[in-house]
Amino acid sequence: MTSPWDLDRSDLAELVGDQPRYRLDQLWAGLYEKGLPPHQISTLPKALRAELEQTHPPALSPAARQETADGMTVKRLWELPGGARVESVLMHYPERSTVCISSQAGCAMACGFCATGQAGFERHLSVGEILEQVIVARAEAAPRRLSNIVFMGMGEPFANYDRVMTAVRRIIDDLEIGARKITVSTVGLVPQMRRFAEEGLQVGLAVSLHAANDELRTELVPINKRHPIDEVIAASRLYRENTGRRVSFEWAMIDGVNDRDTDARELATVAKAARAHVNLIPLNPTPGWPTVGTKPERIREFASQLERDGVNVTVRANRGTDIDAACGQLRANHEAKPVTLRPRRNTPIAE
Ligand code: SAH
Repeated sequence: MTSPWDLDRSDLAELVGDQPRYRLDQLWAGLYEKGLPPHQISTLPKALRAELEQTHPPALSPAARQETADGMTVKRLWELPGGARVESVLMHYPERSTVCISSQAGCAMACGFCATGQAGFERHLSVGEILEQVIVARAEAAPRRLSNIVFMGMGEPFANYDRVMTAVRRIIDDLEIGARKITVSTVGLVPQMRRFAEEGLQVGLAVSLHAANDELRTELVPINKRHPIDEVIAASRLYRENTGRRVSFEWAMIDGVNDRDTDARELATVAKAARAHVNLIPLNPTPGWPTVGTKPERIREFASQLERDGVNVTVRANRGTDIDAACGQLRANHEAKPVTLRPRRNTPIAE
């Protein structure tokens, strides 16, 4: 079974078969313009609705929902066919909304400070399962306009490269959200970063750097052993050269680990080499990681030091600390049994 949003226009045309042409338009309008599951598309004949509900039921079943006191951040936990669970987060602004979506259930990258990394890899999401998160968020955001999509939920988007790229193209073409409003965040899978630079798209690229020397980065982001910093910087430069878009370096601020003056100096050097923008993220505490986040005052100092060194820097507003803000935490806290650190499974990375 696949999500109805796994079906693209030609799949839907095939499904409608020799029924009148307007059936396809009704189906398309229902799924993509109104964001309705097939059984709620009232313009369709009952039989077709029933058939679609059987063969292509929506993939996301609500498992939990949390909202901040101000109602501006809504975190959803979804159960997928087969039982895997993923999160998406909807962030409202006065005039518009952004959704943060997952590309995999779990993650094989094993970054120690990340709740998803602590739990290990389960499976890739299908194109439809990725799109469905956007469809549902767009409906929930209304009357606000869902303007931005960020692939910063669970999973490593570039380890599920082909499906993520198809989803990105379909968000642009079928949901009519501009490429420049979409950001893909990667742990730094260099071959896929280089491929991404050749896609001819104006999509934003964020790279989770977190450390600017190989020793510390390998500790925080183990895949650095395979794709060291120099290669990540070179691939970031290539992205900028090919697309004209500035790459953004993500840096989770961890107390006493990567927030020292020397870290700022090292970061400034690589950020300038890649002509990247730096985004400092206050670390969200997670159950499986002992170190705490840097205090706000030190984050400001660190940011000023980068600025003095000529780096373009922002500090990400920490949203939803009164809900399970860190990616993977909502799921962790809704497990039947306490989360233990599962042994890592070897997962193929599509290169
Ligand atoms: N796998 C991708 C995208 C998912 S995570 C990647 O690594 O980029 C999105 C961002 O949140 C990444 O920059 C990640 O390093 C960061 N992150 C993960 N856990 C975090 C935590 N506990 N606190 C702050 N940021 C965290």
